[in-house]
Amino acid sequence: MDKKESDPGKTGRTRKKIRISHEMSPDRKKAVKDAMKAKKVSKPEWDRINESSAHKFNRKKVKPGEIRTIKLNLLKVTIGDSWPTSVCILHGNRPGPVVTIIGAIHGDELTGPSACSHLLSEALTCDGGPLDPKKIAGTIRIVPVINTPGFKSNSRYFPDGRDLNREFPGRRTGNTTQRVAHRIYHSLIKDSDYIIDLHSAAKGRSNMPQVRADLTHPTSQRLAKSFGLEVILDSKPPKGSLRRVINNLDIGAITYEGGGASSLDHEAVQVAVNGVLNSLKTLHVIPGSPNRPRFRLLASGSTWLRAHGGGLLDMLVGPGSFVEEGEVIATISDPQSPGQSIELESPITGLFICAATHPFVTAGTPVGHILPITKSKELILNQCDENSRFIVNGSLGTPVWREESDVDEISIEGEWSGGNVDSEWQRNWTNENTNSIQNNIIAAEEEED
Ligand SMILES: [Zn+2]
Repeated sequence: MDKKESDPGKTGRTRKKIRISHEMSPDRKKAVKDAMKAKKVSKPEWDRINESSAHKFNRKKVKPGEIRTIKLNLLKVTIGDSWPTSVCILHGNRPGPVVTIIGAIHGDELTGPSACSHLLSEALTCDGGPLDPKKIAGTIRIVPVINTPGFKSNSRYFPDGRDLNREFPGRRTGNTTQRVAHRIYHSLIKDSDYIIDLHSAAKGRSNMPQVRADLTHPTSQRLAKSFGLEVILDSKPPKGSLRRVINNLDIGAITYEGGGASSLDHEAVQVAVNGVLNSLKTLHVIPGSPNRPRFRLLASGSTWLRAHGGGLLDMLVGPGSFVEEGEVIATISDPQSPGQSIELESPITGLFICAATHPFVTAGTPVGHILPITKSKELILNQCDENSRFIVNGSLGTPVWREESDVDEISIEGEWSGGNVDSEWQRNWTNENTNSIQNNIIAAEEEED
């Protein structure tokens, strides 16, 4: 029996309720409360009884109870690359919301494409399976790889060197990436009711599974909690990002982060699949009860740890590690200064939600992203394995059943180091520096989302 299962909290009798209301900054707390109050019903309820009509996509129709893959050309051209991408549509027999799931907006982030492939596997979409379209109320659109040229070349960027996730809503007559963003915005985004954007950490680091959402946006908050994860970062989306334009359309949007670029992280993929199914169940698009975590950490602050010297980084902790203040989390040695090394200590007690994986660092390179944990430490340690590594909900298969009222919500106060979590490391790349992008590990380490 693992620690989660032996947790007395599941009975709801022996556990004390934890409400640490003063921890989130008062301004942010008020903003979240006001937003929820102002908007009691975020979307009209769908008629779940009558039959649904055909779903139209890219001038094609998907009949109720059907699964169909439709190609969407990212560029509308008569000659040259049009970069077709597959949009798999599972259209239910009954009406309901349109949920769009997107992978690889950053072409080298493979958690999304792999999770989408699992979702579309025969095991899930077969007769009687959890994604059998005959049992669906609404429409699920799955786009495993939205940045097709980036995916093929194992690059975060578009061929013109731009970040697709910073060019929304795009422009029909703009640069290449803006044209693609414009096409995605009008074909896939505007008629969605909820959007789940699946990511991994940028090159050189790895993320513990986590969700990012603007918690002052009620529909996004609902979607974020529905995913069933413990760590939710309350962040305003960066300018030009998909999440930002989606929220501006008043559509629910979350970013899932798990694993690292150019690699397949089994746990991050499994948690993503589990999370998408949880959200679909919560939204009543598919039958069944969603799995909920023991608690949620709603974080409005975090601390980035940077190297204070250069050389070869030897990490002693990884994504999901719980660290104490003053604990040595890495050493840096410089082969040009034989025999010398320095130690990096954690400045705070907390949870490592992102850790560097690339061993080459210079002074200032980020090596870890830590959620400060000042209270409820025992609760979190109780969900760590013998190596103090956090066990994410859904990573060990089907989690213990919990009612929503059994989930504790813990606010983590503070500020994002140097600004917003999504934007702090972001650089405004232009095509002038395209050539340096692919090989510039340090630069890539500083990208977000
Ligand atoms: Zn990304």
